[in-house]
Amino acid sequence: MRGVGRRPRRALVSCTFAVCLVGGAGAQAVAAHRGHASETPSTRPALEDKVPELRWARVRARERLGRPECQAVLADFESVNGGRLDLVLRSTGRTAQEQLDLLVLQSGMGRPLCDHGAALAYTQVASPVVSVCLRGFTLLRPPEQDAVLIHEMLHSLGLGENPPESTAITSQVLKRCAH
Ligand SMILES: [Zn+2]
Repeated sequence: MRGVGRRPRRALVSCTFAVCLVGGAGAQAVAAHRGHASETPSTRPALEDKVPELRWARVRARERLGRPECQAVLADFESVNGGRLDLVLRSTGRTAQEQLDLLVLQSGMGRPLCDHGAALAYTQVASPVVSVCLRGFTLLRPPEQDAVLIHEMLHSLGLGENPPESTAITSQVLKRCAH
């Protein structure tokens, strides 16, 4: 997978099932990451204060990620820069739960990907900022909501998409974590 991040900067939008990855070009992803990294926590939108389903989903997803059998999902996937995600995480010194804590959830409502019904959430590779399509997200069953957040957390560690297909990522998260 080396070099994937250096491919042309065409906008990559992949939404096969509920969860999307936007802007697969590495430069864009890094730029986005830098832009948001400078934000202080106080500037983060308090979306979870307004949307309890989102807050509860993060709490449940965090609980799931505390279990070794759920953490094993990180070893199932690799970063676009190479290396299994569990090893990428280890290099950061963070736990899976702490990586989830880093996600900045913002509303994607009003954006094309949400309004066209193609997505439930979307992000960029290596970015902690996740746009959530609240209408569809809140209609999901709780385990599926949790899987969406864990799926996006995997992208924040460098997981690309297509391959692996979005549905395959979510299915694997559900298999490891939804029990
Ligand atoms: Zn995805």
